Amino acid sequence: MADTQVLIVGAGPVGLTLAVDLGKRGIRCTLIEQKEAPAFLPKMERCNARTMELYRRMGISERVRAAGLPRTAPMDVFIVLSLVEPPLWRLPFPSVAEAETEIAASTDASMPLEPYQLISQYTLEPLLKSIAEELPCVAVRYGHELTAFTDNGHSVTGHIRRLDGVTLDITADYLVACDGGGSGVRRQLDIRLQGDGNLLQFRQALYHCPDLYDRIPIGNGRHYHVADAQSSFLITQDSTKHFTLHSILDSDEEMDRKLEEVVAMPLRYERLSCAPWKQNLLIADSYGRGRVFLAGDAVHLVIPTGGLGMNTGVGDAVDLGWKLAATLKGWGGPSLLASYEIERRQIGDRNVAASRFAATGRRKWRAMYRPNIRDATQTGEETRRNLIAVAEVEQRKSNEMIGAELGYRYVGSPLIADEPDGPPHEFMTYVPSTWPGTRLPHVWLKDHTAVQDRIGYGDHYTLLRLDGRSDAAGLDKAFATLRAPFRLLPLDDAHARGIHGHDMLLLRPDMHIAWRGNTAPPDAVKLARMATGY
Ligand SMILES: Cc1cc2nc3c(=O)[nH]c(=O)nc-3n(C[C@H](O)[C@H](O)[C@H](O)COP(=O)(O)OP(=O)(O)OC[C@H]3O[C@@H](n4cnc5c(N)ncnc54)[C@H](O)[C@@H]3O)c2cc1C
Repeated sequence: MADTQVLIVGAGPVGLTLAVDLGKRGIRCTLIEQKEAPAFLPKMERCNARTMELYRRMGISERVRAAGLPRTAPMDVFIVLSLVEPPLWRLPFPSVAEAETEIAASTDASMPLEPYQLISQYTLEPLLKSIAEELPCVAVRYGHELTAFTDNGHSVTGHIRRLDGVTLDITADYLVACDGGGSGVRRQLDIRLQGDGNLLQFRQALYHCPDLYDRIPIGNGRHYHVADAQSSFLITQDSTKHFTLHSILDSDEEMDRKLEEVVAMPLRYERLSCAPWKQNLLIADSYGRGRVFLAGDAVHLVIPTGGLGMNTGVGDAVDLGWKLAATLKGWGGPSLLASYEIERRQIGDRNVAASRFAATGRRKWRAMYRPNIRDATQTGEETRRNLIAVAEVEQRKSNEMIGAELGYRYVGSPLIADEPDGPPHEFMTYVPSTWPGTRLPHVWLKDHTAVQDRIGYGDHYTLLRLDGRSDAAGLDKAFATLRAPFRLLPLDDAHARGIHGHDMLLLRPDMHIAWRGNTAPPDAVKLARMATGY
């Protein structure tokens, strides 16, 4: 017998999210991480709206918000010469509290149920670790490095070296590698990355600046892009006491000088870390083999512009979580796990393209920089005007990719009753749709509960009957035959029916739409078999 059902390698945000999801589904899993403890190193800082919806389903969104940037803190994006000069441009974004008010008043399903949340990766990881450790079926083991694995056909064995030098094996039904961009598991499987690697190298420094946030005369925001020759930008971290500076510079000392130049006021600061990072736009040829799956940065590497790195990985974890659980609980058919690569690789591919789109936009306005940008001359004025004219179109691409975040759809999946054609995939606009394969749009019901909340979190499929009838259209029996959990949710709500456009929606456990119709499915057994992977 295996030691555990799922061995997860890597406690970055993706591995930790998968551990929490599997743990909440009652699957025994062991999460191993080579580091001794979570590191205080900056990387991502924004959970997008979709990730927050997924965390809401898992019952952890409020804990993420409580640990992150305060609800009322502004999320504006600036283009500046320094923090003390009038900004060249300010792109306003609602705080979480303001966005929640907008969402509460929205009626057309165009908004997510949850807004974004700024939370630094070094805050999110320890939080997710503590949540995973609360779950009785999750074992979290730091200081454990996977050195290799053996796929035994009926199980997979991870070969592990502990920090104290002791070696051990853990055998699992499945192994999921969430081991980041340098994934050793991906290399052992000889899976190649395709695309553009090492496009540009930045340095990133993390500074503790305890009194800067309250003294910024131009106002608080989350990103301050500096119109300079080094493509610098300053990011507010969740505590508001820490900032990261990114710049194309060669040394730590130059980073300190750049910080002083950008802040342009007397400043108390301490540099906590500084390291180079590279921009990549890469996707793996395959998302796994046999009993081994890959997720997160192990299979897609994007430019942080647009915030689609960790957020795409969280989507991978959620897609894989319910499919592993269903297979291990015995009701998932053979196509269920096979569909993981089909569904998620196309999203990885799209999000790499979305990241390229956003990064190209940012490069366009940065290309308008000229050394005379500060000059009180006509040519200086022209430089500023030209740069802002381009930024007004191009910078938005980084900050307004709601279509990429919410509008993705699983095309050609064996689990989805696809319909021909389908809406185009847009990066910057989200058009709510119930086209099979999409995420269920968020709609408020008459009593102001959200349809998504009424469905709840678990392993069950749901037939949403928007005509209010309590007839399961034969699907209850069909799912029961397969021993797959199924619930009927009749809703007598004309507004929701109008938005969703159909009387019946069959939802998978991840709330993606498997089928829609106005009359009972012609063959309920066939539909249930397809949705469960047979
Ligand atoms: C500057 C910057 C800003 C970013 N901003 C954003 C943002 O705002 N939003 C966003 O979505 N993304 C952002 N990203 C990207 C984001 O940080 C990554 O996409 C994310 O960290 C990927 O998570 P992961 O869990 O897949 O991998 P990682 O975070 O890389 O975690 C992998 C883990 O696996 C462990 N590991 C590796 N090998 C082994 C082994 N053999 N045995 C055991 N453990 C192992 C590692 O120690 C590590 O802890 C940013 C990235 C950078 C560099």
